[in-house]
Amino acid sequence: MPIFLECQRCTACCRWPGQVLLSDEEITRLAAFKGLSEHDFIQKFAKLRADRRGLALQEQPAGACIFLEGENCAVQPVKPQKCREFPNLWNFPGFEKVCHAIPREVSQIEFDRRIALIKAKGNDRAAD
Ligand code: SF4
Ligand code: SF4
Repeated sequence: MPIFLECQRCTACCRWPGQVLLSDEEITRLAAFKGLSEHDFIQKFAKLRADRRGLALQEQPAGACIFLEGENCAVQPVKPQKCREFPNLWNFPGFEKVCHAIPREVSQIEFDRRIALIKAKGNDRAAD
């Protein structure tokens, strides 16, 4: 049976160093969610990626994501795909030491349903 990693919303991954990459589509969605024009959203919340090939979210002075507010993501319903996909669709060696997601054995049908939800852009992530 496949193992699905259930996010516990501990927000550790929102505090790690690293870039949250933004696609054009995500910028459009995030800007609408914040009630801003795309230009204003980019000025306020985005920065050039380290490789200068696009945009990423800004960080707070201590390194946490600009959208981390206390223990919550301020853009949870429209958070970027990179956030949605961790840790089930991408992770890194040793991530279990810092991520509190709980491994659950689920049926293949349930696993596929949850993965499809993660991939469903623009929808809130009921399964995380
Ligand atoms: S956008 Fe939300 S989920 Fe993604 S890193 Fe920032 S606070 Fe965390
Ligand atoms: S993915 Fe892991 S580190 Fe990120 S909020 Fe969920 S449990 Fe915490």
